[in-house]
Amino acid sequence: MPGYPALPGKPPACDLCGQDAVFLDRVRGCHLCGDHFLRDVEGRVRHTLWEYRLIRPFERVAVALSGGKDSTVLLHLLRKILPVPGDATLTAITVDEGIAGYRDATLRLAREMAARLGVEHQVVSFRESLDSMVAAGGEHPCTLCGIHRRRALREAAMALGATAVATGHNLNDEAQTVVMNCLRGDLRGFTRSPVRDPAEGGLRRIKPLFRIPEKEVALYGMLAGIFHDLPECPYAGTALRSEARRMVDRLEYLRPGTLGRIVRGQEELAALCREMPGHPGNKGWP
Ligand code: SF4
Repeated sequence: MPGYPALPGKPPACDLCGQDAVFLDRVRGCHLCGDHFLRDVEGRVRHTLWEYRLIRPFERVAVALSGGKDSTVLLHLLRKILPVPGDATLTAITVDEGIAGYRDATLRLAREMAARLGVEHQVVSFRESLDSMVAAGGEHPCTLCGIHRRRALREAAMALGATAVATGHNLNDEAQTVVMNCLRGDLRGFTRSPVRDPAEGGLRRIKPLFRIPEKEVALYGMLAGIFHDLPECPYAGTALRSEARRMVDRLEYLRPGTLGRIVRGQEELAALCREMPGHPGNKGWP
């Protein structure tokens, strides 16, 4: 079970109700049962939405739904937290990159999940499949994929009249991005907020799960009955991100709370940069 070491005998008790715990939070030093763990994650995501005013009343939000665990949990949580139709209208968008043997399974799950939650769903494809772009040579597959996926999502969201695109980036993803910016010497990257980007063409990119560690997203998905084991993308594992992932995972294991500290530091730096005259973060946000 993520976050909880497999120990013989009876599991420790939940610190809130005394039921068997399923999760040990090594950062806060507490045990939680399944119910309290689910409520805790929901509360933290609700707080992020409120603290940063990520979703505005009555707006249409496009939710990037790959069918993987992060985006599935994101859609489930947004549907749960924003149950009143007037709060916001959600539309799930799945981008089919054209990766043979990988995308079909996740597309099916994405369709099932959107139907189960009663959320409108659209599938959009790359103009040219990623497989053929990779075969033609050039950029790294993940670089090509990122550029074309962002464009496909933006175009689909704008065609729908959405004013925000929500993505399932979690705390690990954001900490990896900070480390990658360091490794690349990308100073501009340091000025970006880990939770939201300035509006581009009237469209904001928001990350409601940015404070939830990857293991907790996975455990939430399992406990909520929405987690599926999926094939891994054949292009995964060769990018700089894989190196950054190994680095931050090891540091988090040795020093719990490292992920949160990396991302909090980035948040503070981005906030300082937004106060500088002429920074793009000064536009598009209240
Ligand atoms: Fe795209 Fe790379 Fe992710 Fe595969 S691993 S879906 S190529 S970003």
